[in-house]
This record gives sequence, C-alpha cells and structure tokens, in this order.
Amino acid sequence: MILGILHINQKRGKEAYCRQCKGPIKSGDIHAVIVLRYGKAQKRIAEVRGKTGRAGLLYHRVHLQCLAAWALEAYMRKSDARRERRGGRPVNSGIQLPDEDKTIRRRLIRKRAALLRQILAANDKEEIRRLYDQAKVVREQIQRTGVDVCLEMARRDNTAINRRISFARS
Ligand SMILES: [Zn+2]
Repeated sequence: MILGILHINQKRGKEAYCRQCKGPIKSGDIHAVIVLRYGKAQKRIAEVRGKTGRAGLLYHRVHLQCLAAWALEAYMRKSDARRERRGGRPVNSGIQLPDEDKTIRRRLIRKRAALLRQILAANDKEEIRRLYDQAKVVREQIQRTGVDVCLEMARRDNTAINRRISFARS
C-alpha cells in the first residue's frame, strides 16, 4: 500500500514537532516528511475549505528514528479503514482452504451477497421468501466448503435483512 511520498529533509526555519513522539524537530535536524496520499476525502475537505496557498496538502513530519513506528501505525490505520469500507474478513485471518475450494467459496459468497441485496430491494413478500430460501441453500453450500460465512464481518446491515424477512413472514 502506498502511504505517501517520503522526503528526507533538513529542517529549516522554525522548530517543528514529530507526529510520532511529539518531540521537537529543531532547525538543522535531518528528518522525514511524508506527503500523504491524497484520498477523495481529503480532496473534498480541501474543496470545502477553499484553495489558499498550500491548503489541502497533507504532510507529516517525523524523526528518522520514529519513521518505522509511524509507518506501522499509518499502515494499521489505513488497513482498518479499508476493511471498514469494503467489509470482509481481515487479511491473514486465516481461511485455510485449498485454492480451488477458495474460488468455489468466493463464488458462493458473492452469490449469497447478491441474493441478500435483492432481498433488501424486494417489496413483494413472496419474492422475499423465495430469495431467502435461495440464500439459505447457498449458505448451506458455503458451510459444506468447511468455512461458514462470518456474519460479524459482513459490511451489510443484517438487521435490515432480518427486518425484510420478518416482514415477508408477517
Ligand atoms: Zn519523533
């Protein structure tokens, strides 16, 4: 993952502080300046604030000896944020399946996700029940691969699905 563009500079002008340890970076100190990758969110913030001078340019200064710790934390923050956006199982949380089974499982997961999306979009009780039965069959197929779906990791709102299903049964 790209965290930013790394500059190694000698501090000129007034003292700054280190993002990582909050200690001073004095004039003359060789330190790291990371220009952070510009995401959509930051771009939007810059637009709202209006472009004046260096507005919108996001950078972090850290001591060279703090760079590794900074990078690790930035990486963790960013992968957490990414996981939240995308849903799904955390990287390396260990689904130990042969590649072939993984492909099959992934296909089933997608199929089930599509059915659940259709349930959310459907208004007809009959239709919802039919979709739900299909989703149940797919769930059983997933379970047969040896690793069940992980409900906590779904990005989807399960309460919304459950509400649709109770509605269909009412
Ligand atoms: Zn530091």
